[in-house]
Amino acid sequence: MSKVLIIGAGKGGSVVLSRLLRSTWVHVVGIADRDPKAFALPLAKREGLPIFTGDPLQVLQKLDVDLVFDLTGDPHFKKKLSDFPNRLFDVISGQATHLLWNAILELEDKEEQLNRRLQEHRILSDICLLLTSSITADQIFEAIVTGMIQMTGMPASSLFMFDKEKQELYLVSAKGFSSEFYKNSVYPVRPGGLTEQILSQKEAFLIPDINDSPSFNNPVILNEGIRSLIAIPLIAGEGPLGILYSDDFKPRVFEPSIVETLRVLATQAVITIQKQQTFEKIKNLSTRDSLTGLYNRRYVNSVLMSEMDRAFRLHHPLSIMMLDIDHFKTINDDFGHLVGDQLLQDLSRLFESIIRPYDTIARFGGEEFLILMSETDEKDAIALAERLREAAATTKFSSKEISLTCSFGVSTLRGDERPFPNLEAFIERADRALYQAKGGGRNRTRSFSNDKCAVASANKSLTTPR
Ligand code: GH3
Ligand code: MG
Ligand code: MG
Repeated sequence: MSKVLIIGAGKGGSVVLSRLLRSTWVHVVGIADRDPKAFALPLAKREGLPIFTGDPLQVLQKLDVDLVFDLTGDPHFKKKLSDFPNRLFDVISGQATHLLWNAILELEDKEEQLNRRLQEHRILSDICLLLTSSITADQIFEAIVTGMIQMTGMPASSLFMFDKEKQELYLVSAKGFSSEFYKNSVYPVRPGGLTEQILSQKEAFLIPDINDSPSFNNPVILNEGIRSLIAIPLIAGEGPLGILYSDDFKPRVFEPSIVETLRVLATQAVITIQKQQTFEKIKNLSTRDSLTGLYNRRYVNSVLMSEMDRAFRLHHPLSIMMLDIDHFKTINDDFGHLVGDQLLQDLSRLFESIIRPYDTIARFGGEEFLILMSETDEKDAIALAERLREAAATTKFSSKEISLTCSFGVSTLRGDERPFPNLEAFIERADRALYQAKGGGRNRTRSFSNDKCAVASANKSLTTPR
């Protein structure tokens, strides 16, 4: 390690000293200046460095030194140093110190930039981690907005998704704004306007001071008092997905490096949003309800549509029943939601064991089921409903021996019925019959036929329409 003496404790000496103190390749043995009030001496004192205020040449005679920084700027002293008898040390002085000083400043500047970028990348990797662990769309949107605030150090951020068909932007997440900001969440994209321009480009759009951009006249932004902003278009392969904004209420100077880093954030945001959208699409493609394992509503609707089509063409009867657990809310309240979930599963297994192989059972809503019975007339449909009703009412569920009942609404389409109702109207008939069953005291089956409800009594005999 080189042993260094600094001679001259002015401002230059202070810069050199503070830099050398951080260096691992030199050991500063002291600092010398004839003026005991010289600028750099308090720093040297704080650092516990030897301070020499006598004749530096005498100091040099006593000290073991490899390198001298001559920061006096005095040509006579420079000469004396070079004539120093039996000189074993090297000297850096005059022009060389200036060069070194500038090099040091440049190095510090670079180091600061590097540290800033390192910090940005640390935040970025934290955000990426947060994004990958976010599951729902809302969690993802919020993580993106939070990440933008951390990344830019700006106090507000918002994320808008783009609806290409409607040419609208809609707000999906925001932070740091007044409550007014959230009142309007849909914005049309004006042809030729600034938003359209942002959506059509790949690069971030920076406004350091809105007052210098008269074309920027978005009233929401102006009302919020926003003075500077960054807008990053989120571009996927098939086109723009949305815009991510970062806002500040004062003008800002943007570092060029932030654009680079935000580009990485934007790419990560696009990947995560697209992954979520694909996941949602796949989820929609699935035909099963995750709790009960029964078919889901979307699937049974599509089967029902094709069955109605077949019944219409072949003039075959087609029946559906809608059933709903009675007072299920009370069961949840009494035994807890988890027991309620278990009951939904147990009841599903019970019904599955009773219906015929060619019937389709689906969970239609919370505690509501739909059963589709092909080529089944009203009488047989009611008979099946009654079998299910009795089975439910006489079974003790879970280890807690819970009893429950269900109400049933049956609706039958005669194949030759004209005009033939559509899907919604057919389901609506079963719903109305179910409503009648509930109104009639629950734990019963009602059937909708020819706009009237036929009543199936508890003793299974069919009574005439009311
Ligand atoms: P009604 O006889 O009029 O049908 O009364 P109800 O209490 O069954 O009907 P209501 O519509 O008031 O309440 C339905 C309840 O079903 C409330 C809701 O919490 C519960 N529920 C819906 N889906 C689920 C679920 O997946 N699990 C559980 N445990 N409960 C559910
Ligand atoms: Mg219910
Ligand atoms: Mg219900």
